[in-house]
Amino acid sequence: MAANATEIALRSRFGQILMSDPCQRINFRWGRLHADGSAYSFVALALASRPPKGIGVIVNPRLPANTEASYDSVTNKFTVRSAAYGGTAFHKMSIVHEATHAIADATDRGTVLGQLDETGAYVAGALFNIYSAPSLNGPYPFNPIGQGIFETAHRVAMQIAATPGVALNPQVASPLRQAVLNHPTYAFLRQSPRYTNDGVSL
Ligand SMILES: [Zn+2]
Repeated sequence: MAANATEIALRSRFGQILMSDPCQRINFRWGRLHADGSAYSFVALALASRPPKGIGVIVNPRLPANTEASYDSVTNKFTVRSAAYGGTAFHKMSIVHEATHAIADATDRGTVLGQLDETGAYVAGALFNIYSAPSLNGPYPFNPIGQGIFETAHRVAMQIAATPGVALNPQVASPLRQAVLNHPTYAFLRQSPRYTNDGVSL
């Protein structure tokens, strides 16, 4: 498959995940972030734009071992490890996580503390996993128990899952923020760097 066809297929798969019922159910506020169905629909629209407009998807088999996927707010591109990415519950949750970074890029111009941006993205991914279950109490497609940051994110998300539109309380989110900061992948966030959000055009 030509590179262009690969990207078109990935853009389409990502868009379908963002337009799925569990993703469209996500609705919470975290600082200036409002992650809800309309915001994920915007990211899906950006994925459907004709390249190089909108949001693209790059395949890079040499992503660091501890990086599941990524979103670059400067180039407006997701990077994933393989053209087949997006098939598992964990992949789908990771795509929702990265799409939440894209929402911040699209809606919250300026800079945001990286540790806060990651906290919001993990909550969104956990809510997607929770809403993908037959009930709020499971069984979950991805079992977060014993899975470090994902388990902490799950516990935080469970406290807001039944309250659409709620503003996530920083105290409730604090264990997750700490779990992110304590994880080797995010060691660079301990210096309190900021992510730059410069917008996404369709
Ligand atoms: Zn992230």
